[in-house]
Amino acid sequence: MAHIINDDCISCGACAETCPVSAIAEGDGKYVIDADTCIDCGACEGACPMNAISAQ
Ligand code: SF4
Repeated sequence: MAHIINDDCISCGACAETCPVSAIAEGDGKYVIDADTCIDCGACEGACPMNAISAQ
């Protein structure tokens, strides 16, 4: 399991800085979380101003 970023993402990049394992990167039109790298810590959830990040 991994956290996911939905289409509400505005590509602000705030979440990427919070991830301890650098699982978040800019994707096509929104940021994406690499499911294989994510350890499901939840640190990124609160960083998103759009509330676009949630557990799967
Ligand atoms: Fe990174 Fe934790 Fe968010 Fe997964 S849940 S993307 S490990 S900050």
